[in-house]
Amino acid sequence: MSESSYTIQQIAEQLNIGSFKVKYDTLISTLLIDSRSVISPETSLFFAIQAHRNGHEFISDAYASGIRSFVISDPAYADLYPDANFLLVNDVQQALQQLAAGHRSRFNLDVIAITGSNGKTVVKEWLYQLLAADFNIVRSPKSFNSQLGVPLSVWQISSEHTLGIFEAGISKSDEMTQLAAIIQPATGILTNIREAHAEGFASPKDKLLEKLKLFKDIKLFIYSPDYTTGVAVKDLPGERKFSWSTTVKADLEILFVEPIKGRNYIRARYKDEEIECLIPFSDRASVENGIICWATLLAMGYSPEEADLRLEKLTAVNMRLTLKHGINQCSVIDDSYSADISSLAIALDFLRLQNQHVIRTLILSDLYETGKSDKDLYTEIAGLLKQKQVGRLIGIGEHISAFAGLFELESSFYESTQDFIQNFPAMHFSNETILVKGARRFEFERISKLLTQKIHDTVMEIDLNALANNLKYYKAKLKPGVKVMAMVKAFSYGSGSFEIANLLQYQKVDYLAVAYADEGISLRKAGITMPIMVMSPEPSAFEAIVKHKLEPELYNMDILKSFIDFLPDTQFSYPVHLKIDTGMHRLGFEEPDLPDLLPVLRLEEKIRIVSAFSHLAASEDAQQDEFTAYQLQRYNTMAATIRAELGYDFIRHISNTSAITRHPDAQLDMVRIGIGLYGFDSGIKGNSGLHTVGVLKTTITQIKKVGPLETIGYGRRGSLPGGGTIATVKIGYADGYRRSFGNGVGKMLVDGKAAPTVGSIAMDMCMLDITGIDAKTGDEVIVFNDQLTIGDLAEQIGTIPYEILTNISQRVKRVYFYE
Ligand SMILES: *Cc1c(COP(=O)(O)O)cnc(C)c1O
Repeated sequence: MSESSYTIQQIAEQLNIGSFKVKYDTLISTLLIDSRSVISPETSLFFAIQAHRNGHEFISDAYASGIRSFVISDPAYADLYPDANFLLVNDVQQALQQLAAGHRSRFNLDVIAITGSNGKTVVKEWLYQLLAADFNIVRSPKSFNSQLGVPLSVWQISSEHTLGIFEAGISKSDEMTQLAAIIQPATGILTNIREAHAEGFASPKDKLLEKLKLFKDIKLFIYSPDYTTGVAVKDLPGERKFSWSTTVKADLEILFVEPIKGRNYIRARYKDEEIECLIPFSDRASVENGIICWATLLAMGYSPEEADLRLEKLTAVNMRLTLKHGINQCSVIDDSYSADISSLAIALDFLRLQNQHVIRTLILSDLYETGKSDKDLYTEIAGLLKQKQVGRLIGIGEHISAFAGLFELESSFYESTQDFIQNFPAMHFSNETILVKGARRFEFERISKLLTQKIHDTVMEIDLNALANNLKYYKAKLKPGVKVMAMVKAFSYGSGSFEIANLLQYQKVDYLAVAYADEGISLRKAGITMPIMVMSPEPSAFEAIVKHKLEPELYNMDILKSFIDFLPDTQFSYPVHLKIDTGMHRLGFEEPDLPDLLPVLRLEEKIRIVSAFSHLAASEDAQQDEFTAYQLQRYNTMAATIRAELGYDFIRHISNTSAITRHPDAQLDMVRIGIGLYGFDSGIKGNSGLHTVGVLKTTITQIKKVGPLETIGYGRRGSLPGGGTIATVKIGYADGYRRSFGNGVGKMLVDGKAAPTVGSIAMDMCMLDITGIDAKTGDEVIVFNDQLTIGDLAEQIGTIPYEILTNISQRVKRVYFYE
């Protein structure tokens, strides 16, 4: 057992729970806030955190997965299970923080704390890379920097560690003091202060002062005066201060930054000498993050020569897992960045979330976990694989091979990546989800390349975390108890099928809705088991609908009667949904239809109305609010009539995305979220609070100089009157980049700058005017992202974002990211 084990009694004492009786005697080593990510249930303590949903609701799930110890604040749950420990506190989040702070205090460990608007995670990961040779480092997993993330990070500290690096982020005033008490840092790094996340603070200075509370008791403060304007140096924290700046005098005074071949050469003045370093990245953010790391190394006493040597070897921080289409109907999750146990657990969670294939395979290299014996390490991993339902293991490396006997699943082992690759042609991979996870030195990207299909150079990247965050955003706007139906029709608004549905099922939305039976059937075949409504059920698809337990929307007497006729007489209570037309005039029963409908519903036992719903025609538009109110009122009246006739309750729903925030009184029993999940809501100004989910990228195939008299493209419609440079890119109208974007109407981002189209859009390509932009063949070009949004594109050609998204053709490969 590691030092982070406490008896449940000790925990109760730390939380000042007076009369606690042990019901399940155990040692606690893991703190858990999500009932879905259980690794070792007996030794986990579950915190019923009050977040978007009440954590107490997940106690039964957690109990079912074997957890027997809970921290709760609602006394109603205190005696739920006679064989489980319930620790009753006033505030569950505070209890988590208190335990973590107590744990932290037991270790006399030097800790670096990082805060700021951007760059926290990169600086943390880079410092880890730079210092790992000299220290046994414990650090925040991923970007765990919140009121919950920080305590979970700090809980990992054990006696083997000689340095901690933790990041801290805040979203509102008064949060930092808590984090300071948990982290107890000796060194503080302020990365920068930007307008981003300015919400919640009266002014930028207030934000700075709040962030500085993290550093109240530190010994060393590393910062740039460029970001501390308004605060006198004497009021900055730290017995010792180390400053860096590109504009004013500082301990590390940057003289110039010069890009060379994708890297940046930096010269600076330090202790009256000129020193230099090379940052192996070309973008501006990496230069700043690199300088912060440079300053930190120097402030810690490393020589300029040593610092330069180490900085040059920095590697990209990619915390995201990538899900791609693989060979032979496989799905491949690529995670060859970090290989430690906590990131393995996270990746295995993502693997387990994939239901599209029955077999889940893991290709894993030796792990370099400091401070654990190989035997302990691989025993723990073997337990983890069992817990996460991995079906097959391919171990690569001498260490994991030596412990082959520990793994109780189908497994094979190879000495090296090369050894695996040589044997690859004889191996069999088909219809399975494969997680490729290896330490950097194993170069597993070579394995991923063998397993994945070549990607056509235009891809749509889908950020699954952004989607989950958008869902959270809307859930937070819902009144208690309101259910969520997620609209995944039209290939999830162009974003994917089972990839999106798996996530939504995992996030426990209540319903999915598709347009056609085919879409629902694909989801069932991909292992989606939650309820699915089909909005346009054709009679020819009834058989498939019933076979796959899909729930049809019935919108008029014909379809209602033919569905009832189709059902065998033995059928009882088949779930269906009634569509009511309250003014949209698309599908649905209208008020005059009720006298025909009601007697059928009353007598018919083959079906059961699970929900009756209507659709708003203009919920996003303030000018139509009166009409929206009228639709709601009509719905309520008709729903009440149907309810009275049926004699049982059904789910009532009318809200689409924009109605959720704009018309809270229309939330009823459930809302149907569509475009908002994918990051767009025309009812919210500037989409504020939503995250961009899809990024469409293409590449430059060729670059040409054209003279003033030459023409470009079909019909000779394009020209550059002053002459210039054009780039041909690999996207055309067959990919969904409409012809109407041609002749300068549309723009794409090349090297971050807007480049207008020239001439007509062709089927598979189009041309951009890149005069004055630094670009070369093979460079990436952004069609839309969070800067150039689907809203902007829609405006350019006079349509709506829905159409931009759903137009992206299926031949554009989707790649999924998950953190
Ligand atoms: C598409 C659709 C929605 C979702 O609309 P958004 O504006 O994308 O939220 C809701 N209800 C029905 C019936 C739909 O067809």
